[in-house]
Amino acid sequence: MHRFSICLAPPSLRAYDTGVEPAGRKKPTMPLLVMKFGGTSVGSPDLIRRAAGRVAAEVARGHDVIVIVSAMSGETDRLSGMVSETSALFDAREYDAVVSAGENVTAGLMALTLQEMDVPARSWQGWQVPLNTTSAHSAARIEDIPTGNITAKFAEGMKVAVVAGFQGVSPEGRITTLGRGGSDTTAVAFAAAFGAARCDIYTDVDGVYTTDPRISSGARRLNRIAFEEMLELASLGARVLQTRSVELAMRYKVKLRVLSSFADGDGDEATGTLVCDEEERMESNVVSGVAHSRDEAQMTLVSVADRPGIAAAIFGPLSGAGVNVDMIVQNIAEEGRTDMTFSLPTDQVPRAEKALRQAKTDGNINFHDLIADVNVAKVSVVGIGMRSHTGVAARMFEALHAEGINIKVITTSEIKISVLIDRKYMELAVQALHDAFGLEKAG
Ligand code: ASP
Ligand code: MG
Repeated sequence: MHRFSICLAPPSLRAYDTGVEPAGRKKPTMPLLVMKFGGTSVGSPDLIRRAAGRVAAEVARGHDVIVIVSAMSGETDRLSGMVSETSALFDAREYDAVVSAGENVTAGLMALTLQEMDVPARSWQGWQVPLNTTSAHSAARIEDIPTGNITAKFAEGMKVAVVAGFQGVSPEGRITTLGRGGSDTTAVAFAAAFGAARCDIYTDVDGVYTTDPRISSGARRLNRIAFEEMLELASLGARVLQTRSVELAMRYKVKLRVLSSFADGDGDEATGTLVCDEEERMESNVVSGVAHSRDEAQMTLVSVADRPGIAAAIFGPLSGAGVNVDMIVQNIAEEGRTDMTFSLPTDQVPRAEKALRQAKTDGNINFHDLIADVNVAKVSVVGIGMRSHTGVAARMFEALHAEGINIKVITTSEIKISVLIDRKYMELAVQALHDAFGLEKAG
C-alpha cells in the first residue's frame, strides 16, 4: 500500500495505530464531531475566527465538537529551523518540545476565539488529554487516548474541546510528535476514540481530485473515494492527508471528509470528498485517479551474478541504510548474470550508492557497473474497479505509446498500476491517462 519499504522493522500499526479498541463513549443525543483545521486554515487570527465560525455553526446544530488544530502555516518549519540552527545533532526530545509549540499557540487562540463567540470551549495539549504515544520522538505512534477527561468536561457543559494536533506524551512523560502532517492522524484517532459521527478535515483544497489540477485542466473533484484508493493516492504523492490517518480511518471505519475552509457554505454533506468504505462509493469509474511522483530515481546494477540470495544481498544493505525501495525489476539471466533495476526517492541515491559499493567491497555482491538516473518520475492509475475489470494495463500502455512515451519500469497491485518514465514526460503522461480513462466525467 505504501512505497514498498524493506526496512527491517517496518512501521506497524499499534494501539490506535493497532490493538486497543476505541474506548466506548455514551451516545449523546447529537453525535460528536471532530473538526480538524490545517495550518493554512488557522494562519492568522482572522482565519482562526473564520474557522471558529464553522465550529460554532456545528455547536448551534447541537453537536459537541472536538477541534484539532495544526500550527499556523509556516510555523512548524520556522520552529524546526531554529532547532537546527541551535544544534546540528539535536536531541530529538528537545526537538519535539520545540516543534510541538506551534499547535499549543493555535489551540489557545482557537479556544479564546470560541469563548469570544460565547461558545464554551477550552484548549488541551496532548499530554493533558493524555494522548499516549510510543517514545519514538519526531515519529511517535499513538498508543491510546483515554476519553475520560474530555468527556467529563462535555458533561459539565463544555461544547468544544480544542486539542493541539501533532503531539502526545511518551511513557517517560516527555512530549512527542507524530511526524510532519501528523495532525490529520491526531484527528482520526480522536474520531475513533470518541466514536465521532464524522471527522472533517478542513484544508486549503476543496477535496480529492482525479489528478493534480495544476497538470490537467480536466481534473475533477471526487465526491467519494474508497479508503484503499485514498491510501494509494496519499502514498503516491497526492498530499492531501497524512497516509497514517487514512490507515487509521480505514481500520476504525471513521467517516473522513476533506473539505476547504475557504469555500462558502458551512460544511453540508455535499461539499468536499468523503473517504469511505468501498460499498459506500457511488461512482463506478474503473480508474478513480491518476497520481504522480516527481522525485523518483532509478538505479541499475549491471551484470550481477544470478544466484540464490542475490536479491537479499542487494536489498539487505539498502534496507540497513534506510533506503526506501519501491519498484524492482530483475532481468532474465544470461550466462549466469543479470541486471537488477530498482526505484527510490532521489535524495536517497547517495546513500544507496554508498551501501552497494560497500557491499561490493565486502565481497557480498559483485556487479560491473552501477548506474543512477535521477531524471525519472512515477505515474500511476488507481482504482478499486481494477479488481473486477481487465484491460486497464493495456489501455494505460496504449495511451502512453500514443504519446511516444517510453516505459522504463512497471509495477502493479490489485488496484494500482505504476510506471516509471522520463521526468520530462510526466505532465504529458498524466494528461494522456486522465483522458484515456475518461476521468473528466463522473462514472
Ligand atoms: N504542524 C505540523 C506540520 O506542519 C503538523 C500538521 O500540521 O499536521 O507538519
Ligand atoms: Mg497537513
